[in-house]
Amino acid sequence: MLSIILLHLLITAFTPQLNDVYLPIDVIDRTSVYEIALTEIGEFGLNRKARPSIPGHLHAGIDIKRPNKNYLDEPIYSIAEGVVISKREDGPYAQLIIEHNINGQYFWTVYEHIAGIKVDLHQPVSSSNPIARFFNRGELGRHGWQFDHFHFEILKVRPVQIHSQATLPERLYKSYTLDCHTEEKLNSLFYNPLSFFAERL
Ligand SMILES: [Zn+2]
Repeated sequence: MLSIILLHLLITAFTPQLNDVYLPIDVIDRTSVYEIALTEIGEFGLNRKARPSIPGHLHAGIDIKRPNKNYLDEPIYSIAEGVVISKREDGPYAQLIIEHNINGQYFWTVYEHIAGIKVDLHQPVSSSNPIARFFNRGELGRHGWQFDHFHFEILKVRPVQIHSQATLPERLYKSYTLDCHTEEKLNSLFYNPLSFFAERL
């Protein structure tokens, strides 16, 4: 019996631990949640007051700071393998939505305020190749330095299917980003990404 336990321990120790989920940014250890830094108002669930073009809402994701001083092509990765189901490329609101099915568990991730999108609609993606990048210095100058982060969400439910417009032909889904006014609703639609990472990394 003891030898079986020892054998099991040995096998576990020498089998590489392949994660299903990784951080979406270029840090030394993409399996350590401590490597993520958020902007000052970047926390999940924070009450965002109404602004001229945006109604008040609870922050449905996290705002992830640029991890390195790379203002040229700081990469952004998918957190897991999946398929691109929606893509929009309209400056500050550029966004990718990816559908994941990991061992039968579905979830959806949203990457917003991104640029240099490297993947196509319906393309399968892995967690190891960049899908986009943070804004570069020129784009921050044009769109505003408040975008020196990217907005990241993890949905528990499928995003809302929409009719694409001629100007955004590959935008096929939208998230519930601005729709949550109670914690109950927020938590029924979204994971807190940091808790999700803490459990899954
Ligand atoms: Zn945000």
